[in-house]
Amino acid sequence: MAVSIPPKLQQAAVVQDPGPNYTISLCEDSPITSPGPNEALVKLTCSGICHSEVRAVRGWGVYNPIIGHEGVGVVVAVGSDVSSTLMGERVGFKWLYNACQECSVCRKGFFHHCSKQQNVGRHVPGTLQQYSIADARFLTTIPSGLSDVVVAPLLCAGLTMAGALAHVDGELQAGDWIVISGSGGGLGHLGVQIASRVKKYRVIAIDSGREKRDLSLSSGAEVFLDFQNEDVAKRVLELTEEGAHATIVVPGTKEALQMAPSLVRNLGHIICVGLPKNDIELPISATLCAARGLTIRGSSVGSEAQMTDLLQLAVEGVITPAVEVFSFSDTPELIRKIEKDEVLGRAVVKIP
Ligand SMILES: [Zn+2]
Ligand SMILES: [Zn+2]
Repeated sequence: MAVSIPPKLQQAAVVQDPGPNYTISLCEDSPITSPGPNEALVKLTCSGICHSEVRAVRGWGVYNPIIGHEGVGVVVAVGSDVSSTLMGERVGFKWLYNACQECSVCRKGFFHHCSKQQNVGRHVPGTLQQYSIADARFLTTIPSGLSDVVVAPLLCAGLTMAGALAHVDGELQAGDWIVISGSGGGLGHLGVQIASRVKKYRVIAIDSGREKRDLSLSSGAEVFLDFQNEDVAKRVLELTEEGAHATIVVPGTKEALQMAPSLVRNLGHIICVGLPKNDIELPISATLCAARGLTIRGSSVGSEAQMTDLLQLAVEGVITPAVEVFSFSDTPELIRKIEKDEVLGRAVVKIP
């Protein structure tokens, strides 16, 4: 593939004044840097917009002014320690930029739980720009047969759900019940697909509104419950007799976390994925947790092996992300919509 020399300046979406009055402006003079020894420069074609960007714009932590961590593009330059065979390859950016590779967690292969990890759009500029620097050792190579805009949501949303569901491999069996809240969003609908189509669980999807209902059911949910106008806990108990075997809490809300223990049976599994404001703690009775033998588990993104498997499932047509494509200039408006939970499936912007 022919690779042209990158320019010195580029377009980027830049977050200013993170907090309640944040703004996102589109600039045309953001610098393009050269890759360091282990790095690669990637010309991006598109970027998914993850719900967790709300944390960045709202200032619930320190993030890079250039956010985005679901980018797809082509390698246009590599550092001195990177094989030149990477040039021209189609690659994906994930939340994990790199990890120490030396701690006990990394040595087990769980780079995405390394305490020294760096993240795309947090410690280094993200994917809402034309060119982005990657640590070549942690890039995902994209198989052929998938369009860039379909790949983007798999890099964070899909991987996060694959990682979350992997925690109950060996605990649940085909035919067991799992409740996925936030089922019509970017993560949720992919979680429903993996749970129903790959793991063969019976899925109860929770979200609100007709469009999210339709997406949840077409993704493989057996039942959809609208939390705005149904007694969800009562309905789950009726459907499952004792409660579900597990639930994945996708929304970063206190209400969703609060409801989780009432959705599962004794010895059930609660997997926390959503990222609420930092001062929101798990609202669960310690006594009930002990008496009922519940397992509560946190989960963040997933491993490279899970990423590879998920991309292959997409190539085979088993996993089919629901994507709506927007232009780059729509980025500020899209982030506002994500804050209000108004995005169905995943929003992906085309990078100019
Ligand atoms: Zn994300
Ligand atoms: Zn480490």
